[in-house]
Amino acid sequence: MHRRELFSFLTSSLKGEEKKVKEQILRPPYYNDINAFDTECQNCDGKCATLCQEQIIIIGKDKTPRLDFSKSGCTYCDDCAIACEFGVLEIKDKKMIDAIISINQSTCLSWNAVMCFSCKDPCLEDAIEFKAMFMPTIDESKCTACGFCISRCPTSAIDIKMI
Ligand code: SF4
Ligand code: SF4
Ligand code: SF4
Repeated sequence: MHRRELFSFLTSSLKGEEKKVKEQILRPPYYNDINAFDTECQNCDGKCATLCQEQIIIIGKDKTPRLDFSKSGCTYCDDCAIACEFGVLEIKDKKMIDAIISINQSTCLSWNAVMCFSCKDPCLEDAIEFKAMFMPTIDESKCTACGFCISRCPTSAIDIKMI
C-alpha cells in the first residue's frame, strides 16, 4: 500500500471510529429527532440533567445529554422531557431506551455456580429469570432497559448494547 493510500485508509478508519463512538451515546427515552441533540442542546444549560432525580443524565463535552447507568437507572418519570424547553425531549415521544440488556455468562457469579440474586432484586419488571436458582437470563419481552440492575451486579456482568 502506498503512503497516500495508507494515510487515507487510516483517516477513514479514524472517522469510522468517531462515528461508532457517536452512535454509542444512550439518549433519554423521549426524543423524536436524533439530530436535534446536536443543534438544540447547544443553547441549553442541561436542564434535563439537573432535574433527573436519579441523576443518570450526564451532559457531555458536546453539550448533549446521555444516560449513565453506573449508579442508578431510569424510572421513566418524564421529568427530563418536562424540563426540556427546546423540544428535543417531549413526553409525546416517550419510548423504550434504545438498548438491549444481557447477562455475560462467563463473568456472572450465578452462571459460575455461586449463588447471587443482586440483579433480580432491583428489577421491578421481574424480567430476570433464574433456572433452579442459577443461570439467570433476561426476558427481552419484559425488560425495559431501565438499567437498574447494571450497577448492582458485583462482577459487572450485565452488558448493555445499543440498538
Ligand atoms: S425519565 Fe426520569 S429517571 Fe429517566 S432519565 Fe428522564 S428524568 Fe431521569
Ligand atoms: S433539556 Fe433539552 S435542550 Fe437541554 S440539554 Fe436536555 S435535551 Fe438538550
Ligand atoms: S434493565 Fe431490564 S432486567 Fe435490568 S432491572 Fe431494568 S427491566 Fe430489569
